[in-house]
Amino acid sequence: MAVPLFDTSTPIAPLRPLIDARIAEVLDAGVFILGPQVAAFERELADYLGVRHVVSVANGTDAITIALQALGVGPGDEVVVPSFTFYASAEAIPPTGAAPVFCDVDPDTGNVTAETVRAALTPRTKAIVAVDLFGNPAPVPALRALGLPVLEDAAQAAGASLEGARAGALGDLATFSFFPSKNLGCFGDGGAIATDDDALAEAARVLRFHGSRDKVSYERIGWNSRLDELQAAILRVLLPHLDDWAEGRRAAARHYEAAGLAELLTLPTATEGADPAWHLFVARHERADALVAALTEQSIGARAYYRTPLHRQPALAPWAGDLVLPVTDELARTHLALPMNPLLERDEADEVVAAVRTALGA
Ligand SMILES: *Cc1c(COP(=O)(O)O)cnc(C)c1O
Repeated sequence: MAVPLFDTSTPIAPLRPLIDARIAEVLDAGVFILGPQVAAFERELADYLGVRHVVSVANGTDAITIALQALGVGPGDEVVVPSFTFYASAEAIPPTGAAPVFCDVDPDTGNVTAETVRAALTPRTKAIVAVDLFGNPAPVPALRALGLPVLEDAAQAAGASLEGARAGALGDLATFSFFPSKNLGCFGDGGAIATDDDALAEAARVLRFHGSRDKVSYERIGWNSRLDELQAAILRVLLPHLDDWAEGRRAAARHYEAAGLAELLTLPTATEGADPAWHLFVARHERADALVAALTEQSIGARAYYRTPLHRQPALAPWAGDLVLPVTDELARTHLALPMNPLLERDEADEVVAAVRTALGA
């Protein structure tokens, strides 16, 4: 039995008639940008998260840039960001004029900690980007205690929570991506910024629309970055199912444990107090590349995501210097993602574990 790395279509298949109907409604209404669907989705996501404001934008990368600018980040500032994450977490910083400063991560969770961030702080640090890596919330309350604004990059963590608060409600601001393969994915690109702060929300709203409040006066150089009505209408159908899907992802992780995967690989560790929404199920092994090849051979989805961490990426070299991040390098070398989706069953987990056993000759 083949087990794919992810499956974005089966979980939403039962919702297809409703999605079709909502798409037809948008076409009938003939409003495509910043209309009623976007306003309703922003309200519904804010209510779900338990925050006052959601400002939707064109994608999760723009969301980070705009959120940082809303915080007042600009030229001469530094923003601390982990190196073990998707490229966009750091790529979004230089467009503000600020410099990314890379920090290391915890070996067990793969997330930043107050200690790893503290090591990267300087008098120029203006903000911290904390990534909820692979759907596991970063310890944001401990980071906020450092006294600097924290932007929670929750692109991978829709549906997760930490000590009863939703991922996306933990930072001064949080950002989401609705890229199709994310936990809450639309049918194209989309993103959002969430915050409890009225002034930050207003700044983000102005920035996403060309730096204008009223389409008459343009008060700053902004962006053309909006979620469109069709994507918002689709996301409104999906959002009520997010918690079930997150629970399905946690159940899939439990299937792997019950099937004995921990005897073969180092399994991901949840942050203390967290209910992760495993976007990716990322384990570790000394011979990760050989294992990926052997699993692929057996039709089991497996791949490395961040084999070259950000501080070693060519485009980010100007900000990395000869920085040494030992834990990041170790995780980059040894990680591999295994199949994960909200409907992954025990027999599929058994199949994956059997294939890992065969691959390792165990
Ligand atoms: C996907 C992702 C982003 C960027 O989102 P896009 O919508 O693809 O621009 C940012 N940060 C992380 C951690 C991501 O996984």
